[in-house]
Amino acid sequence: MLDGFRTPRIVWPEGRRFAFTIFDDPDLQSDSDGAMVYDFLADLGFRTTRGIWPLGPTDVPAGVHGHCEQPLHVAWLRSLRERGFELGLHNARMQTSPRNVTIRAFETYRRLFDQEAITLANHMDNGDAIYWGSARLSGWRKLVYNLATRGKNRNRFHGHEQGHELFWGDICRREIGYARNFVFRALNTLAACPVMPYHDATRPWVNQWYASSEGGECASFVETIREEQQDRLEEEGGAAILYTHFGKGFVQDGRLDTHFRERMKRIARRGGWFVPVRTVLDTIRQQRGEHTLSNSERARLERKWLLLKLSHGTS
Ligand SMILES: [Zn+2]
Repeated sequence: MLDGFRTPRIVWPEGRRFAFTIFDDPDLQSDSDGAMVYDFLADLGFRTTRGIWPLGPTDVPAGVHGHCEQPLHVAWLRSLRERGFELGLHNARMQTSPRNVTIRAFETYRRLFDQEAITLANHMDNGDAIYWGSARLSGWRKLVYNLATRGKNRNRFHGHEQGHELFWGDICRREIGYARNFVFRALNTLAACPVMPYHDATRPWVNQWYASSEGGECASFVETIREEQQDRLEEEGGAAILYTHFGKGFVQDGRLDTHFRERMKRIARRGGWFVPVRTVLDTIRQQRGEHTLSNSERARLERKWLLLKLSHGTS
C-alpha cells in the first residue's frame, strides 16, 4: 500500500468477498488459443475484458494477431460479448495510426459491438498511444525514466498532442471510459493504487485512469496469482485487475498451462466477483465517489511505479 493512502473498503455485489478481473492484450494470440483460454475462463465463471483491434495492420505481417477485418474473428468476439465478456480497445490497430484511421476504427467498433464507454489499454509500440512512454510520468520522474530508457520513449507517443497528426484526445474523451497506466506487482491492484479509478487534471483527455497487476505472460501471471496472494486479496476484500497477453505462453502444444489452470480454479472457488474491468471500476466509483488525483498522490504513484520499472522492468 502507498503510504498515506487509505484503501477504500468496497462492498462487492452478491455478497462476494473480492473482485478479480483481467485485461487481455491481444498481441500474438491465435483465435484457436484464444478460444481455448476463454472457454476455460467462461466455464469457471470469469467474465473479463479482452482487448481488441478494430482494424488490421498494413505494414506488418498479419500473423496470429486477430483483428476485426477478419469475419471469423469478429464472430468469435461477438460470442464472447454474448457470454458477458467486455471488449476493450488496444488502439485502432497493431501499428501507428493517424487520426483519420483512428476515427474509422471507432466507427468500426461501434458498428460491430456496443455503444458503452470503452476500456482502453495502449499497444506499447503505437505512436498514437495516449499519454504513453515518458508522458506516463511528470517532473523528475520523467527525467529519470528517460535516462533509464536511454531516451527511446521520449516524445515518441502523440495521441494526446493536439495538432499532431496522431492526435485523438478528443475522441478518447468522448469514447473511452477508463484507460490503463501503472502496473504493480501485488495481486490486489486496489491496495497498490487505492485512488483508482481517478481523473488526472494534467492528462485531461483521459476521463478515468486505472492501474493493473503484473502478469504480462504466463509465468508472471501465475506468479502474481500464487496462493498466498489469492488469500491476501480475499482477506483484504480488494480488487485485482491482471494485465496479460493470453497469446504469450498460456497454451503450449494445444494444452493450457497446468499452473494457470490450477490457480485459476482455486480463485474461482473463493467467492469472488468475476466481472469485466469496466464493471469493477464502475462499482468502486459508485461506492467511493469520484476522485481527482492530487499533486502528492500523482508524485507517489509515479515514484512507486518508476521504482518497480527500474528494478523489475514491469510493463
Ligand atoms: Zn499490445
